[in-house]
Amino acid sequence: MKTRILLIASLFISVFGISNQASAQKSKTKTPKRVVFLIGDGMGLAQISGAMSGYQGQNAFERFTYIGLSKTKSADNYITDSGAGATVFSIGKKAKNGAIGVDSAGKASEGLFEKLKKANWGTGVVATSSITHATPASFYAHVPSRKMEEQIATFLLKGNCDLAIGGGQKFFDKRTLDARNVFEELKLLGFTIKTDSVFEPIEARKLVYTLAQNGMKTMEEGRGDFLLQATKLAQTNLLKYYGNYFLMVEGSQIDWGGHDNNYEYMKAELLDFNSVLNQVLDAAIKDGETLVIVTADHETGGLSLLENKENPSTFTPNYSSKGHSGIMVPVFAFGPGAENFTGIYENTEIFAKLIKLLNLNGND
Ligand code: MG
Ligand code: ZN
Repeated sequence: MKTRILLIASLFISVFGISNQASAQKSKTKTPKRVVFLIGDGMGLAQISGAMSGYQGQNAFERFTYIGLSKTKSADNYITDSGAGATVFSIGKKAKNGAIGVDSAGKASEGLFEKLKKANWGTGVVATSSITHATPASFYAHVPSRKMEEQIATFLLKGNCDLAIGGGQKFFDKRTLDARNVFEELKLLGFTIKTDSVFEPIEARKLVYTLAQNGMKTMEEGRGDFLLQATKLAQTNLLKYYGNYFLMVEGSQIDWGGHDNNYEYMKAELLDFNSVLNQVLDAAIKDGETLVIVTADHETGGLSLLENKENPSTFTPNYSSKGHSGIMVPVFAFGPGAENFTGIYENTEIFAKLIKLLNLNGND
């Protein structure tokens, strides 16, 4: 009898223990408090495989715990551009090529940043292109064409993006559309405006920081660790002033190297991006409440790695296009909620997964 009671008691304890463990695990995968969403523009598997091959430092891509594949076609073309390719992350709907933050009917659809601001999250974009370029623009602007960079600049006045660091100064203060100085208008709304050619840290609740008239220098031209430092600054400021935040970081020029069919250009940009990923992952491990997502809007250049007959231990990079291709792109995830990003899915799912995870309202 005693033994039976003991057995039941130990059974009870073990079941209770298991359920306790399960709830502890559940609380571990709670809503992330911070999301760093990194886009390697034009970064497909060939770009990653090639650039990381033989790399002596730490391969950040191999540190991610959950991997998925995203199908990239846009509303009107199997081959997406970066406008439609980033708009889908922001509004969760397929858009026509060239569109920024508008659906396939051209209608402005509420974006992730707008939803996040309603929930009092901080929001920011960091890019090595102009901050008004297609990828970052898709997160805070709604215009029918990516070419409208001066109009895109004025969308920062809406206050849905708290921080923007990159190039693009001329779209604010040397405009051809009108004589407005958007920097002055932003200052009236409490933004700190900084326009330097050399990056230096600054503390500000709301910040627009441009370091070039248009795109930033390439790595080969000596951009140095700008993307690393700007990302660190963005994370520090957003954490200090908002606590919860969503930061989009773009390795913009991985794409430009692809368009130029310039493998060394692409590789230098991707290795720069890799160092940013390592820094973001290190911080996310320390923090424990940051979800890190890395993906691409599309692949650029139709790059493949072919046999190198003279040196069989390496490969010959081979481009098949000056444009984008339609191959699926990888999605790497780390941190609370990362397990939701495995599998093969349309790029619209990335928005849907984020909305669900962050308890935000979707778009019909
Ligand atoms: Mg881009
Ligand atoms: Zn491109």
